[in-house]
Amino acid sequence: MGPLIVVSGPSGSGKSTLIDRLLVGLRKPVHLAVSATTRPIRPGEKDGKHYHFWTKEAFEKEIQAGGFLEWADVFGNYYGTLRREVMPHRERGTGVVLEVDVQGWAQVRQECPDLVSIFVRASSIEAYAKRLRDRGTETEDSLQRRLAGAQRELARAAEYDFQVINDDLDQALEHMRAMVIPLFER
Ligand code: ADP
Ligand code: 5GP
Repeated sequence: MGPLIVVSGPSGSGKSTLIDRLLVGLRKPVHLAVSATTRPIRPGEKDGKHYHFWTKEAFEKEIQAGGFLEWADVFGNYYGTLRREVMPHRERGTGVVLEVDVQGWAQVRQECPDLVSIFVRASSIEAYAKRLRDRGTETEDSLQRRLAGAQRELARAAEYDFQVINDDLDQALEHMRAMVIPLFER
């Protein structure tokens, strides 16, 4: 079985940036699971690559069909991990990385207790707002929901196997690499 690596952290903590960079240089068999979501697509995002962008109806149909390993309402939209993005890869010995919120991690843990969890955070709470504003992807309403959600996420950080402080991106990447590489050698 390939390792299952779950990455969570407040919106704006740098999860996507770190995961993208980690996977580029990893040289291990690894698959980044593409989640389904009902949130609107952002400029620059590709359907099927960053997410499967679905209607609410399509998402609810998949829930009924039992296709999700986990799903949750995050900041007012549905997000979920498809079983087919995880199980077949792990069975082939490929590692799988999931980027999910704390609700998703808690659900996946029930079914996959062997997962390894990493929580990404910045050392100051102000960093999330600044990064999200600079990223320029959120409306003020969405930004406020994300900042309110940060507290809920941070409250569970200590339950994760590892925490990565992402203040300096290169340093955070090195920490993450040092955590992940041994998982492929177990
Ligand atoms: P998340 O996936 O956790 O919501 P992103 O990876 O999209 O976060 O990062 C949010 C924004 O912050 C992006 O614009 C990204 O380029 C930037 N960013 C990521 N890491 C750092 C860092 N260490 N210092 C400053 N900005 C960062
Ligand atoms: P974004 O809209 O910025 O892409 O993602 C918002 C948040 O949704 C992320 O911080 C991440 O924690 C969460 N998320 C992304 N994909 C999933 C998923 O498949 N399941 C769950 N539960 N949360 C997800």
